[in-house]
Amino acid sequence: MLKFDSSRPAPFGFVTEGFCETIGRTPLLRLGKLSEATGCEIWGKAEFLNPGGSVKDRAALGIVLDAEASGALEPGGTIVEGTAGNTGIGLALVGNARGYRTLIIIPETQSQEKIEGLRAMGAEVRTVPEKPYKDPDNYIRISGRVAAQTSKGFWANQFDNVANRLAHYQSTGPEIWEQTKNRLTGFVASVGTGGTLAGIALFLKEQNPNVQIVAADPYGAAIWSWVKFGHTEINDGDSVAEGIGQSRVTKNLDGVKIDQAYRIKDDVAVEMLYHLLHAEGLFLSLSSAINVCAAVKLAKEGGSGQVIATILCDAGSRYVSRLYNPGWLAQKGLTPKAKGLEFLDRL
Ligand code: PMP
Repeated sequence: MLKFDSSRPAPFGFVTEGFCETIGRTPLLRLGKLSEATGCEIWGKAEFLNPGGSVKDRAALGIVLDAEASGALEPGGTIVEGTAGNTGIGLALVGNARGYRTLIIIPETQSQEKIEGLRAMGAEVRTVPEKPYKDPDNYIRISGRVAAQTSKGFWANQFDNVANRLAHYQSTGPEIWEQTKNRLTGFVASVGTGGTLAGIALFLKEQNPNVQIVAADPYGAAIWSWVKFGHTEINDGDSVAEGIGQSRVTKNLDGVKIDQAYRIKDDVAVEMLYHLLHAEGLFLSLSSAINVCAAVKLAKEGGSGQVIATILCDAGSRYVSRLYNPGWLAQKGLTPKAKGLEFLDRL
């Protein structure tokens, strides 16, 4: 059976057995200007180089391998999921490579690029009206019912299926630990399902309980409140970041020790997005920029000498009509203005 094995050579420059075997073992990139500015080492895990283009390829593969092993996903079966983006892409491509159909339930408010993109990759896509999570007709809840009604249907259930965080415990965590030569002092990630933060945190704390685990939250999410105060009641504000912004403690987050949390404002994150593009050549999503902002905040608060890693989740090409569109940015009041790194003072 295919399994994550991070000790295999990195795929770049090597041959691999195909799509699924090319997932993971991504490079760790030194963010030079930010490292110099803080006196710390700040590293970004290049998850946008996964073959499906995001960190969620790992979760998609982990969930499918786990379901194959348990028998929940039968040969010729259909993977069903409620998702607005990267997980759907990962599941559709892993599904194609391993012989499954994929059926995606998506809120009709999502961009046509995403809906048509998933269809182009071979997924069946059903659009539904946008409803809050507590509503029985919320897209995630519908996906669970559709899976139960589908012949050989399997509900991926990325938020509460801990095969998601296990994929990161088995692959991303060991890779980062090895790539930083066991010197890592802090790890930072934002939360969608929480699989990335939780799986990596569980692995790193086993290697060294002193590694600081930090959640990076956009405004409008409740994970900062949960880490700081033990409840999810504070979720004021709003963010245009896609793929992150959680309001509840998912099963993937449950029981994980998180030492610190920061809230990052969209306008500062957009400045970071353009710094990473223009100064480092990295074309990324806003969740990636929020992660890097929180890594810099940890560097500044903890002082020089720290070795901090975070996640570069997916590429900017998925957000050209928004984050890289001056008209859209102006309409949202998010036009970047910084000449240098002075925006770091606003973290
Ligand atoms: N960034 C982006 C762009 C994403 O799509 C996701 C996944 N929803 C995340 C970050 C967060 O990953 P996780 O679900 O593992 O918390």
